Amino acid sequence: MKVMKFGGTSVGKPERMHQVSQLITKDEEAKIVVLSALSGTTNALVEISNSLSAGNREAAKQKIDALETHYRNFVLELVKEEANRNKANAVVSEHFEFLNIILRISFSEALNKDILAQGELMSTKLFCTYLDEQGIDHMLLPALEFMSIDANEEPQLLPIRNRLNQLLKEHASKKLFITQGYICRNARGEVDNLKRGGSDYTASLIAAAIVGSVCEIWTDIDGMHNNDPRVVNKTVAIEQLSFDEAAELAYFGAKILHPTCIWPAQQENVPVKLLNTMQPEAVGTVITKEAGSVGVKAIAAKDGIIAIKIKSSRMLLAYGFLRKVFEVFEKYRTSIDMITTSEVAVSVTIDTDTALAQITKELEPFGSVEVLKDQTIVSIVGNEIAQTDKVLQKLFNAIQDIPVTMVSYGGSAHNISLLVPGTEKVKTLQVLNEGLFGL
Ligand code: ADP
Ligand code: ASP
Ligand code: MG
Repeated sequence: MKVMKFGGTSVGKPERMHQVSQLITKDEEAKIVVLSALSGTTNALVEISNSLSAGNREAAKQKIDALETHYRNFVLELVKEEANRNKANAVVSEHFEFLNIILRISFSEALNKDILAQGELMSTKLFCTYLDEQGIDHMLLPALEFMSIDANEEPQLLPIRNRLNQLLKEHASKKLFITQGYICRNARGEVDNLKRGGSDYTASLIAAAIVGSVCEIWTDIDGMHNNDPRVVNKTVAIEQLSFDEAAELAYFGAKILHPTCIWPAQQENVPVKLLNTMQPEAVGTVITKEAGSVGVKAIAAKDGIIAIKIKSSRMLLAYGFLRKVFEVFEKYRTSIDMITTSEVAVSVTIDTDTALAQITKELEPFGSVEVLKDQTIVSIVGNEIAQTDKVLQKLFNAIQDIPVTMVSYGGSAHNISLLVPGTEKVKTLQVLNEGLFGL
């Protein structure tokens, strides 16, 4: 059995959904198809939620109405027979009735999660209506019946596997299952989600749960590129990546994959393929245990980084100093991305300012604390980078004119990270593209 996940743009237009139905019926293998919301929908739902939480009901109502019009038009082109149009319109009515009801009740975090779930709930039901019209046998598997996160907001593979396998056993005669990406239940049993871009995570978790033959992530580009195509003009697709390389790229900002979506597939050794819905014949990227080749493969950038520098003459030769520093971050459940040290200072980066004030306050007794906001981590990822001929020379030549804040090298054989001011990100990605890839 395999998993095929289609992202927002892959289902964002009626003709794309038609194309998806062809892609999922090309071969005989049983499959679980994971769908995102139509492109733009989750952003719209976030805006609706924000308007509501700010008490601006009128703005929320306007956005709800605009979104409903979009879905009504979508239905007109998606299905042609009257009975199916009625069915699809009933789906739209059900979910927009819910969105209109919430205009009248008080806002809460739980309600916010319910609002955000509407996109995937609608896209899957609408797609199933289209499959009905095409006479394609299928079954809708509600993600809320098997996908879950624990009290730390982490998905646990075992309970997901048990529930999913039970559902599959109950419908053993079916070969095509459709389910929602992104949405899940939390430890309190409420509707929740796997964070933005989380449909990739859903796909990988399902692939691991069923130990699928492959986890295919279908999107709007022909695989993982060597650099961010939104920032740099000339980029090329990478044919093969190891799980470790792909995980580093995803975590350090390659938007094509959700930051933590690789581990489930990696745990069960299920290959992940990145494929292009708009160009299905392109080879794409295959992610497996093996790296395929040695050397630098790609560059990614993660924005919104905060650097914290703790300087203390007492750190000199003091054991236990770093532990005390790290304990502060642990206490506020804030993970550290980059670390550099010298005899008298340690610098770390974090990607959230949620507990920044408390953290800096608790670090102050250790020495002087300096905070630098709006930084970007630029990661150079590959296999056995250190062994690559002249890689450091090429790298440092390329960044001659960039005011680099931190450099981290040697932590893993797959990664060299630079911290640069956010305003230097575009230039850094461009000069590295030329210096490391000759592009
Ligand atoms: P989907 O909606 O299918 O999940 P996303 O928008 O989340 O798609 O991811 C695909 C997009 O990721 C591409 O259109 C591209 O602009 C962006 N992207 C950023 N970095 C990379 C990269 N290194 N390789 C490929 N795509 C990337
Ligand atoms: N629809 C969700 C989002 O836009 C999840 C996803 O598409 O992966 O973030
Ligand atoms: Mg995505």
